[in-house]
Amino acid sequence: MSSANIQEIFRSIQGEGLYSGVPAIFVRFSECNLRCGYCDTKRSWRKTKHCLYQPVEFSRRQVRVPNDISAEDCADMIFWLAPQGLVSFTGGEPLLQAKYIAEVIKLLGTKYTYLIETNGTLPQALKYLPEQKNIVYSVDLKNQKFVSFYKAIPKKSQKYIKIVLEKDLDITNILAMLKSLRVASATNPLFLQPIDNKLDKKQLQKWMYILDKSGYKYRITPQIHKSLRLK
Ligand code: SF4
Repeated sequence: MSSANIQEIFRSIQGEGLYSGVPAIFVRFSECNLRCGYCDTKRSWRKTKHCLYQPVEFSRRQVRVPNDISAEDCADMIFWLAPQGLVSFTGGEPLLQAKYIAEVIKLLGTKYTYLIETNGTLPQALKYLPEQKNIVYSVDLKNQKFVSFYKAIPKKSQKYIKIVLEKDLDITNILAMLKSLRVASATNPLFLQPIDNKLDKKQLQKWMYILDKSGYKYRITPQIHKSLRLK
């Protein structure tokens, strides 16, 4: 069994994307291969001595568990929070720990849906994950590596695309990538996410015009955990 440096494990409400509003257990891994300026989890870029485990959702009580955490212990902590439901592997970049995630999934079995919130830049990591229907990839569209990543997602797994509405978003380039993959937005919904729930309406108007013209269906979704003041 392998081990991993984990920032925190807790239960809250999924705040983004397809599962927005669904109760979820979050496993936040340390370290990321990118350095996005708008990142709201910069503290996760570095390893940490202790994983903060919140044994009861929304409570202030936290247990400091020394890092690194074995896959077995991680699976146990998830199970004690809820014996079924949604598990969100997040970060940092969770796919830096792809082998470890595969071990945790194997230990926990089929009672959970596993959401992997990835920046979509590590296609080589996907070979470690099993081909299962209950694994869902929330893929950020950040750069050109998205194309090879999206192609490498196991066929049985589900996936959707998240686009963070940065000021300098190159929507034309994004559309070119989606078209090259023949991504149809009816089956692969596009989630457009404002940074910190703030929108520049003029810019949004421009992006909506371009997306409408190209026939893409999309949803503009705020991060509800921030509106609800949850973690
Ligand atoms: S990929 Fe995600 S975790 Fe990594 S720096 Fe960018 S926003 Fe932060």
